Amino acid sequence: MFEVILYYQFHPIESPEEFCKAHKRKCKELGLKGRIYISSEGLNGTASGTSEQIEAYKNFVWSHQGFENTEFKQESYHEVPFAKLICKVRQEIVALHVDGVDPKYGGNHLQPHEWRAVMESGEDYVMIDVRNNYESKIGHFEGAITPDLKNFYDFPEWLSQVDIPKDKKVLMYCTGGIRCEKFSVLMKDQGWEDVNQLHGGILNYAYKEGGEHFKGKCFVFDDRLIVPVNPKDLSPIAHCEITGVPADTYVNCANMECNKLFVCSEEGALQMEGCCSEECKQSEYRRPFDPEHAFQPFRKWYNYFDDDFKQRNKSFIEKAIAEEPNGCLS
Ligand SMILES: [Zn+2]
Repeated sequence: MFEVILYYQFHPIESPEEFCKAHKRKCKELGLKGRIYISSEGLNGTASGTSEQIEAYKNFVWSHQGFENTEFKQESYHEVPFAKLICKVRQEIVALHVDGVDPKYGGNHLQPHEWRAVMESGEDYVMIDVRNNYESKIGHFEGAITPDLKNFYDFPEWLSQVDIPKDKKVLMYCTGGIRCEKFSVLMKDQGWEDVNQLHGGILNYAYKEGGEHFKGKCFVFDDRLIVPVNPKDLSPIAHCEITGVPADTYVNCANMECNKLFVCSEEGALQMEGCCSEECKQSEYRRPFDPEHAFQPFRKWYNYFDDDFKQRNKSFIEKAIAEEPNGCLS
């Protein structure tokens, strides 16, 4: 078995480039895989390895001043759900594209049991799912508002148009908690007073409260794509876009020109050879369909095409590289 961790810590990093270099060196030395972002505001990552590797990595993170209290959401999985290690400097560790948002001034953190108690109290509140549409589509808390947005940085615009009374109690959640750290600041800045965020996000809630009141599954940004939240209720809440049957497995359209992420059952994937439409199925940019790995994200384009294809399609490939999905973490 392997361990998969998801974590973040907001703490100023003076020289992100240097911090990143040392961090990457250590991760390589340990043999970790995953995606880690570093910026002047802190550290955000998801990584995987054996339990020894993960323990060593956690100790490494905790050894940095300011990172001693970093919390790790942790789960076991039968394989390492990442192809490689990416460790790089970014402008923000979670991209909201709003200047001066300091998580120090965020909302009130609710522990999973407190969150559940509010949900069961009959109290009046509004709950916001601070994740993207493709995440909330396959799973969300009962009664949550699930904005139809593709990116976290679309939320400020959404907030400026939404009609939520300023005196209303606000609950918000995301996968691991990091997006709420910023979005709660924005809501408070804009006049909402009673702003609450689920500490550790859905994953922590699943672990501590068994996922009660959560419908469907949780989208994650690694090869697993979805993880169960409530073991007592595993039924899908979405439908296969090809066959219409209940489903919550995701496929990236095999046509490299399309790449659409869509809900697809096993039958649907087989029928369309991993494509979202007949048109995509005919594309010369279609990656070969592998039923064994139908529900895993694709690797870099060059894994699927021969040299002849590369020669013939230089300009397309340059474009494809520039546009290749560059995942967020949580
Ligand atoms: Zn397509």
